[in-house]
Amino acid sequence: MYQIVVTLLFCKVNNLTFNEFDFHKDLLKGVKIAGFKEPSPIQETVIPIINNGEDLVGQAHTGTGKTAAFGLPMMNKIAKKEIERALVITPTRELATQVSDELYHLGRFCGIRTITVYGGVGYGRQIALINKGVQVVVATPGRLKDLYKKGKIDSFNPEIVILDEADEMLDMGFLEEIKEIFEYIPQNRQTLLFSATMPEPIKELASEILTNPQFISVVGQDESTTNNVIKQRYYVINESQRDEAIVKLLETEKTNKSIIFCRMKREVDRLTEHLLAMGFNAAGLHGDLEQSDRESIVKAYRRGETKIMVATDVAARGLDVKNVTHVFNFHIPFDPQSYVHRIGRTGRAGKAGKAITLVSTEEFRELQRIQKEVGAEMRLATIELKDNSVEDNIDFDTLEKMVRDTYIHEEAVNFIDSMEDMDYHEFVERVVSLLFQEKKRVNGQIGYDLDAVNSMLESYQDEQKVARQNNRKRKKR
Ligand code: AMP
Repeated sequence: MYQIVVTLLFCKVNNLTFNEFDFHKDLLKGVKIAGFKEPSPIQETVIPIINNGEDLVGQAHTGTGKTAAFGLPMMNKIAKKEIERALVITPTRELATQVSDELYHLGRFCGIRTITVYGGVGYGRQIALINKGVQVVVATPGRLKDLYKKGKIDSFNPEIVILDEADEMLDMGFLEEIKEIFEYIPQNRQTLLFSATMPEPIKELASEILTNPQFISVVGQDESTTNNVIKQRYYVINESQRDEAIVKLLETEKTNKSIIFCRMKREVDRLTEHLLAMGFNAAGLHGDLEQSDRESIVKAYRRGETKIMVATDVAARGLDVKNVTHVFNFHIPFDPQSYVHRIGRTGRAGKAGKAITLVSTEEFRELQRIQKEVGAEMRLATIELKDNSVEDNIDFDTLEKMVRDTYIHEEAVNFIDSMEDMDYHEFVERVVSLLFQEKKRVNGQIGYDLDAVNSMLESYQDEQKVARQNNRKRKKR
């Protein structure tokens, strides 16, 4: 595989202009009206390769202009009648809609007919439109495979096929479906594969479905996969401080639009309600919502009517919204790839962005692993609170959260053992009453500094050791 590495993200290589790609004049009109003044580095590099009819593996994350990088030469071939049909496969409905929108805006003066195909809606219209002769199909894998398998779109034989965000497809378990889809597509095609990361199964897929591809990697000078226009920092906090920390950050950061990522759907709902109650302009986005609700939430966010989007990874995958100044990780993601994808929602098209992650001491080591794997530079920070006062008694909800989030300390186990003579119920009621009498202290700072984090890590490791010993003791009893 022949490899070109564009080492400086957002640095031009040859200083080409859009006029030098031999594009159809109607396509250039679309480019002009979209406000694209000059090609981005990935566009400058891959457009000539695609124009040349070669297969391509492009390692680039969202925000680099990769949709236009494949969309423009693809539509140019259709506009110039070199080919008749093209297929773009994306992992999610949201990304499919987004890619369709971008293709529509760039290609509308060429009169190219595009359709977006995904599950959860009726088959009839999609089949009718494809068979009527649309030129570009942007589809998610599940529905596309169904249509091919049921023999509903036999006449749709794309001459160019683009797999977008292939690593996301892998994460979402679509790889087998992708391979199946390719059994229905003619061999004499041009195939392009884009992926933010290149895990082994994606390399294998590339060698199966591509022919002598060129390999383009758009990476920054000091990083492998994360975008260096995004400033990344993190706060090490107590579990019970998460809500307070996010509120303080939203109050103190100069945000335009921001996204807060949560791991769970119910966390999205809970945090959204909390932020709304605190007077923030927020909306939640996750997969349990109806498709139409999701679309109107994204639309309102895109238009800037909603400023804060609280979302799960899957719901916000591939989301391309302009002017997202901040990505907050309310919890760290499950894996490094998700981290790259999450923070790629900001710092788009060369604009600056901030990615801020909240971690508990337990999660800190997980964050270090992500940091190492994605080669990201992340800065530890703390939030200074001006008000160093004492608030009212702890309320019901706070206590519930504190109890659920609290790590069981070795001393607690010993203490309970020593109170064996007291009725268990009465004992619990007394302890809880004690907690209700506690005043909620407002710290002078949210987040620990490096020394504190290191000493907490040490004592955390000791606690873990003791907890394991206690567990073993308990099991033996
Ligand atoms: P993408 O990486 O395809 O998700 O694109 C990120 C954003 O950059 C989208 O909003 C595009 O419309 C925009 N974009 C793509 N190419 C250019 C360009 N050459 N100049 C300015 N903006 C661009």
